[in-house]
Amino acid sequence: MPEELGVDQIIDTHAHLEDIPDLDRAIARAEAAGVIKILAMSMDLRSAQFTLRASEQFPGKIFPALGLHPWRANAEPAEPLLALMDNHREQLAAVGEIGLDAKAEVPMTTQVAVFRQFLAFALEAHLPVSVHSRGAHAEVLEELQAAGVRQGVFHWFSGPKEALHDLLAAGLAISAAPAAAVSLRHQHRIRETPLARLVVESDCPEPWSNGPPSEPAAARTALRAAAEITGLSPTELARITSANAMRIFPRLRAYNF
Ligand SMILES: [Zn+2]
Repeated sequence: MPEELGVDQIIDTHAHLEDIPDLDRAIARAEAAGVIKILAMSMDLRSAQFTLRASEQFPGKIFPALGLHPWRANAEPAEPLLALMDNHREQLAAVGEIGLDAKAEVPMTTQVAVFRQFLAFALEAHLPVSVHSRGAHAEVLEELQAAGVRQGVFHWFSGPKEALHDLLAAGLAISAAPAAAVSLRHQHRIRETPLARLVVESDCPEPWSNGPPSEPAAARTALRAAAEITGLSPTELARITSANAMRIFPRLRAYNF
């Protein structure tokens, strides 16, 4: 068991697994890196079906988050995906990836309408959210508050300090991504976040430093970078961020270490 070996127990709270070439091997490498649980995101209906299958294939390791990403908000109707989510609501660990992106080509009115549908589902199903927020932090927070969704993570948060302050005041959290190793802005936001509101993620397969596509093991890079920023040991920060992840996303507690 990882604990007996003294290996860090890291939870990757935001990963995209459908484009990982050999998932079995990637999961084995994640385990070797101490990444014991993965909250897997979805982009759209096809991706959500993949995420559900992967979570069934790796019970206790991969936990599904289903949602329609703002980049895909006008690519398909939300209803079939919402119906799938309704059918599998007991399996879901979160609603995600959802949010708003001011730099995306999808019209903001469409993004907002879709975001609201998924926030309504999250509220009704008592599920936390993993949100994408780019250039629209105030709007994302407003939508969360208007919907009554109080539990979730602004993933890979690199927004302005003021936006961080507001989301923390609302009881929400942020995640440290592997880019924390190189992005000054991301480093600042991590430093300004209370430890109780910090989790880590890989956001794989997104490369983080002009490198190749990443995989869940990269959550370890995020952990190490955040440990350096916070002045804690990686082991101590893994303990804190994994406890946070299981508090924010309670279904990650299933199948304990
Ligand atoms: Zn993502």
